[in-house]
Parts: sequence; C-alpha cells; structure tokens
Amino acid sequence: MRAMVMRETFSRVPSAPLTLEDVPMPRAEGLFDVVVRVGAAGVCRTDLHLLGGELPHPLPLILGHENAGWVHEVGPGVTRVAVGTPVICYPFVNDGLSAPERSGHDACAPGRRTPGITVDGGYAEYLLTNERSMLPVPPDADLTALAVLTDAGLAAYRACKRATSLLRPGDTAVIIGAGGLGHLAVQIVRALSPANVIAVDPNQAARQLAITCGAHAAVTPGELAASLPDGAHAVLDFVGTDATAASGLAALDFGGTYIAVGIGGAITLPLSEVVEGEKHIEGIYVGNYTDLVEVTALALTGQVKPHVVRYPLEAANEALNDLQAGRVLGRAVLTPFEGATSVVASNSPTPL
Ligand SMILES: [Zn+2]
Repeated sequence: MRAMVMRETFSRVPSAPLTLEDVPMPRAEGLFDVVVRVGAAGVCRTDLHLLGGELPHPLPLILGHENAGWVHEVGPGVTRVAVGTPVICYPFVNDGLSAPERSGHDACAPGRRTPGITVDGGYAEYLLTNERSMLPVPPDADLTALAVLTDAGLAAYRACKRATSLLRPGDTAVIIGAGGLGHLAVQIVRALSPANVIAVDPNQAARQLAITCGAHAAVTPGELAASLPDGAHAVLDFVGTDATAASGLAALDFGGTYIAVGIGGAITLPLSEVVEGEKHIEGIYVGNYTDLVEVTALALTGQVKPHVVRYPLEAANEALNDLQAGRVLGRAVLTPFEGATSVVASNSPTPL
C-alpha cells in the first residue's frame, strides 16, 4: 500500500520530511483487530512535534493519529462492525480491561497503543486499529470532516464540556487559538452554553473563521485585556505557550478557571494571585470514547462544522509545511482515497 513514512527526526523540519513508499498492508491477525481503509487523516501540530523529535516514538513511523474510513478487514472475534462500515477511529487502542479504562480514563490505560504516535497511523491507505476504538457513522457522513473529531474535536469537546459546566448566562469564555481545535471549541461552547465567547488569535483569517463559527468577538492577543472589562470565567488555551498561559490567567475574573489543552510553555504565577483571585488551573488530555460520541453527535446534527482543507496522501509534506507556516485555516486532512467527502448526515453516531 502507499504510505507517507517518517524515517528520521529533524532539529528543523525540512520541506519534505516524509517519503512516499510502498509498504506491506496491515492485516487483522489479532482476535479484535480491525483494518480500516483510510478515507481521511487529520494533520495535527503534534505531528510537527514528532518530526522534531520532541516526543518519543519508534522509527520508521507512519504518522496520522486522527483517522476515519471504512472497515476493510476484521479479526475473528469482531462482531460489532462489518467490512464496509464507515467509521471514525477513537485514537487510543487497548482492550478496555484496565482499571483506568473502566473509569472512563482511556488516556491512562497502561500499554495502550496510539496509531500515528506509538505505532503506524493513518498517513497511508490502510490502518490497523481494533474493534473497541470504532465509532460507526452514517453511510453518507463526510468522513473528512468527522476525522478531525477524533483528536482535535475530542480534546476541544472535553475542554468545552468542562468549561461550560462552570459558565452561567452572562459569563464570558475566552478561547485562545482559533485553529484546528479552537474553531471547533467556539462552536462547541456556543452549542453547550449561553456564555459570551471571545476568540483570540493573531491571524486575521483565523479570527474571521472564529466569527463565522459563532464567536461574539475575535481579538488579537494584544486586544484581549481591553476586550474583557469584567474578566473571563473560563479561559481555554489551545496554544499553550508561556505568553498565552500568562495572558489567559491574567484574564480570569474572581473564581475563574484556566484550562490548558495546548502544550509547550510553562505557567509562572505568584501564589498570591491564585489565592486572592481564587483561580483554578486545569489540564485536559484528549478525551474518552463517550466524549467522541457526544462531539460526533454535535457534528452530525450540524451544530459543529469542522472547517477542513483537503490534501491527497502524496501531499502530506505540503500539508505539514502549510501547518508549520500558519497557512492552514481550520484543519488539514489527507485523503488517501476518494469518496470520503459528502454531505454531513442529519443522523447520529452508533456507539458500539
Ligand atoms: Zn493531535
């Protein structure tokens, strides 16, 4: 099968870090294995961190941890999905038997595999995953839009669900970063809460996308403080630099909550500010299967519309370059096969 393969890491990611290769197809040899014919694979900033050697991973590696497609082959124990079923792929692959998973903390499962990070992922024609990670979707669903829910949408939804549990009418939520996750977060907060939503992004096109997605206002980082005379009750930081953490924490009103999703920076804050402002600091790491079902239901009913830019599989390097240069509006998605794009169905996902 065709795949875009990472063979080395780079101190500075070059223009063509991946090579198009013909590699053996994965097979569904394990009892609950599922091989998915990849319809769409999202291109995530984490892929740039992997190429930069900032996260541990094997080499060679096929990137792509945000995947959707059609069931192609199933192991002998698989009963809940059949060949041909359109599915989106929960990003963690494990048996579900560990104590953390039984509590809904799939991200903490010991020994879990993450296609595209710890094992081969979806920058290829076929992907090995398992039955437990399958979320079947309607046959006419737009897999290129739904693929981005399995990572960007999943983390954005978990963060927004946490934030909106704290927001009352009249409160303000600030969303830092109107990119792959942030543009979804704007829509999710609008769908789940009556709060006022302010998006923050230095990029004018991203701010315009945030307004299109339903933000009440979109400002540059320098304009944030002036746009918040009463402070924000929740700040969702999808960028995660020293600067965004500092400005996000400074933007909180009394008792407000800063939710970190993006990573890379650090928080430096006098404890007096935490105490006197009763500030809350939380982190969100991906999400669980239930979160994926819920955000997919929002997308299938048109309440969340991912903005995707499509690239053929062979153009993975171009997509990564565009992401690195800030040229991607919304989320870049690779499409190894035609046929993944159609109207978004007014229907529901069918969790296993
Ligand atoms: Zn990601």
